[in-house]
Amino acid sequence: MLADLRLILDIQDLDIKMIRLMKLRKERLKELKNLQKVKEDLREKQKAKEVEIFEQKKMIKLNEGELQEIQEKAKKLESQQHSVKKVDEFNALNQEMAAVERDRVNREQKLSDLIDKVSQEEDLLQSLKDTWETTFSNSRQQEFEILEKLKEINEEGRGLKIERDRMVKDAEPETFSIYERLLQNKKDRVVVPIENRVCTGCHILVTAQDENLVRKGERLVFCEHCSRIQYWPEETAPTGEDTKPTRRRRTPSATV
Ligand SMILES: [Zn+2]
Repeated sequence: MLADLRLILDIQDLDIKMIRLMKLRKERLKELKNLQKVKEDLREKQKAKEVEIFEQKKMIKLNEGELQEIQEKAKKLESQQHSVKKVDEFNALNQEMAAVERDRVNREQKLSDLIDKVSQEEDLLQSLKDTWETTFSNSRQQEFEILEKLKEINEEGRGLKIERDRMVKDAEPETFSIYERLLQNKKDRVVVPIENRVCTGCHILVTAQDENLVRKGERLVFCEHCSRIQYWPEETAPTGEDTKPTRRRRTPSATV
């Protein structure tokens, strides 16, 4: 294997850990956001219900006022009835009184419906408040746990970064910068072994010529399909019919 790649492989292990850690962090943050969203939604529903009830109560007040006016009007007509002398005036008054009475009955019904409705809405509001209480206390525990996990993730991330920074100092700059560019693109392992004549990055067969180049480990070899840097895994080197010089190069002491 190309000597420069050994350290890069170690750095890559840290980077893969870091990528997983950041994915985990993102998931946790999403969970936290979801919990907050549930609470916000409940709060908003509650507020909307309160506004609705307020408007309905205003309507009830208005209707009560109108009903009172009609009741007064009925009383007034009733007292007028005593002073009426002519039959046709009496009949006209009677008709008017009947109309007022119908109006009164209608309005009373409407008012009673409104009062029923508002009482239903108030029950709904109460159940929204109860749900909010339960959700709030449940999610507080969950949020606490998520925040604890996030703290752990951040700590682990800091540790990884310190270790990585230390390793990067010793890395061969050019190889490292190529590696970093590839990693930025793929967010995955970019230095990969060839196994069974296949690039383990893209699982496509490599040519015998490429395989030889990789095995020699004299320079960086990129997969022509996925652009990853390939290396020859020393521990899984096949024994048998291979040419001797290549095999010698595979032993760690000879790779310098
Ligand atoms: Zn590949």
